[in-house]
Amino acid sequence: MSFLEISDVHKSFGHNEVLKGVSLTVERHEVVCLIGASGSGKSTLLRCVNQLEQVNSGEIHIDGDTVTGAGVDLNRLRRDVGIVFQSYNLFPHMSVMDNVTLAPIRVGGVSKREAQEKAMVLLESVGMGIKAKAFPDSLSGGQQQRVAIVRALAMEPRVMLLDEITAALDPELVGDVLEIVRELAHEGLTMMLATHEMGFAKEVSSQVCFLDQGAICEHGSAQQIFEEPREERTQQFLSRVV
Ligand code: ADP
Ligand code: MG
Repeated sequence: MSFLEISDVHKSFGHNEVLKGVSLTVERHEVVCLIGASGSGKSTLLRCVNQLEQVNSGEIHIDGDTVTGAGVDLNRLRRDVGIVFQSYNLFPHMSVMDNVTLAPIRVGGVSKREAQEKAMVLLESVGMGIKAKAFPDSLSGGQQQRVAIVRALAMEPRVMLLDEITAALDPELVGDVLEIVRELAHEGLTMMLATHEMGFAKEVSSQVCFLDQGAICEHGSAQQIFEEPREERTQQFLSRVV
């Protein structure tokens, strides 16, 4: 069995079916990029993986455990599956350090001291150690997003979901955030990311999935999708965005 298995997932909002039977497998240490037009279902698919949305049918398994359906331990699931959004969603009334250590202390059962030591190592690894006492609104968007990534990493997730994490950033701040993702990929962290950064997707992905209107139209290696897309809709999409 693969590490992450998504099998025939359907998801509707009212009468709007936004995932129409999506199947996808991700092996450990893989970086899978989801590309596709706005509204094609990328965010919904990521949100189904950590159960921020519930599927209507189909199954998702992580490391052999089903995460769809009743009786799932959501605390455990969200420890194992980190997610970072386009809008960094840091808690505005908490310092950077408190943002990062909240979940490990509250949910992970780690002591405050240990959580803070680990947080500092992570913050320093992204150049944010000096900002540990700062509050989010004093940071740039790129700095806030680096903290949001560290906050997710602090739970030591087994897979990270990144949903267009550079989309809200000023162009000059994008590079620093992508550099962190690149580093995590080199360290072998399993990741699924929705992105509009095609150059980056090409560079880091072991697998690229092109979503079109709620279905995977084409998937393959980064080289295959970007250099020799087979489907006409993939070709059209890439000709518009690259
Ligand atoms: P993408 O991330 O590729 O832009 P989304 O997954 O955000 O696509 O959206 C896919 C479709 O699902 C869109 O038509 C969107 O309007 C719809 N959708 C997403 N979330 C909700 C929601 N909570 N309620 C109703 N419709 C939603
Ligand atoms: Mg989206």
